Amino acid sequence: MTITDAFRASILYFTDDPACNPDAMHWHSDGLLLLSGEKIAAAGDYHLLKTQLPPELTVSHWPGKILCPGFIDTHVHYPQTDMIASPAPGLLPWLETYTFPTERRFQDSEHAHEVADFFLDELLRNGTTTAMVYCTVHPESVDALFIQSEQRNLRMVAGKVMMDRHCPDFLRDTAETGAHESEALIRKWHGRGRQLYAITPRFAPTSSERQLVLTGELASQYPDTFIQTHVAENKDECHWARSLFPKARSYLDIYDQCGLMRPRAMYAHCIWLDETDRRRMAETQSAIALCPTSNLFLGSGLFHFEPAIAAKIPLSIATDIGGGTSFSMLQTMNETYKIARMGGHYLPAASMFYLATLGAARAMQLENTIGSFTPGNEADFIVIDPQATPLLARRSQHLNSLEEQLFVLAMLGDDRCVEATYICGKKYIS
Ligand SMILES: [Zn+2]
Repeated sequence: MTITDAFRASILYFTDDPACNPDAMHWHSDGLLLLSGEKIAAAGDYHLLKTQLPPELTVSHWPGKILCPGFIDTHVHYPQTDMIASPAPGLLPWLETYTFPTERRFQDSEHAHEVADFFLDELLRNGTTTAMVYCTVHPESVDALFIQSEQRNLRMVAGKVMMDRHCPDFLRDTAETGAHESEALIRKWHGRGRQLYAITPRFAPTSSERQLVLTGELASQYPDTFIQTHVAENKDECHWARSLFPKARSYLDIYDQCGLMRPRAMYAHCIWLDETDRRRMAETQSAIALCPTSNLFLGSGLFHFEPAIAAKIPLSIATDIGGGTSFSMLQTMNETYKIARMGGHYLPAASMFYLATLGAARAMQLENTIGSFTPGNEADFIVIDPQATPLLARRSQHLNSLEEQLFVLAMLGDDRCVEATYICGKKYIS
């Protein structure tokens, strides 16, 4: 294997869940990351790996900085970029007042491109290199996101929202057109370069039973595509969903009945699940995208860690822009920590960094592709400056452990800490 690039700094990554395996976290305070083209070749201590350096190769040296796999945001709506931080008393009025009018504009391809361009740059500025992205009901909005992603060589997962009821006419498809348009987009984009497709019914209340059934058929026809939707976000929404599907045992069961629970299915929120729901999540290897800033902002509720962990459900954290209030996965860790505390659970910083990297990759069944510095994985990584602000620099003078250093980063860090973002080994410049 030819080493083509080398980066020297502190190195942080995971090979397993640190909550279950004490050897899962890998930290090299003077580390070396070696690439072979677009892939990871090796990561470890500088003094051990330096013998592998070709004599003519220049090492990019980042003293005092941390190299870490790019963050993964498992639930985000790019069309809502322009309506982040919109005031409304709860989810349903927020959807009607802001979301639907904003998403209407994405029938205009030029507008979709302009927003996708900004959105992807904003993700990268925050150190997020992969995301599971909701587009709008318009196929043009999906093309725009994927074209912009392809131009940056990003590994993105995205899909056209399907909704055929309980929304304005201008955002409505039908069960048949939604399935046909989604299938055409799967054929066009799934597996093209680094792009991956997610079948995306918005949530059960805005889809007819027929639409969810056709969606489930599509999901079984294309088993390596992703599925993404919302479930059990707030109590009003749960009651509404149950009243629309009275035969279902629970809100989650609506999706289960339609064949929408399987590996690579990502369920956002999952606040109001019961024990049977959690068991089904684990049995089907469906994953949770916990969206703390959104849940707090919209007053939806507090996610319960202990039963989700006990049930062994694949877990990840996400921004949920525009219900969420920050693109930063560091700030998302901060709010995740507080939600865990409110439920009596203590979440170490190591676990939070795991959730934002390898944990998310595992939840998406992409752990052999992204999320760690395992040799052969794609070289998407970031350079973190742990002293990026005066307060961080000052606080960093009083650190007693690695856990404390990472915790301080998660509490006080944001986009200012992301000094550089590398995509397949190339530094991204917007
Ligand atoms: Zn959402």
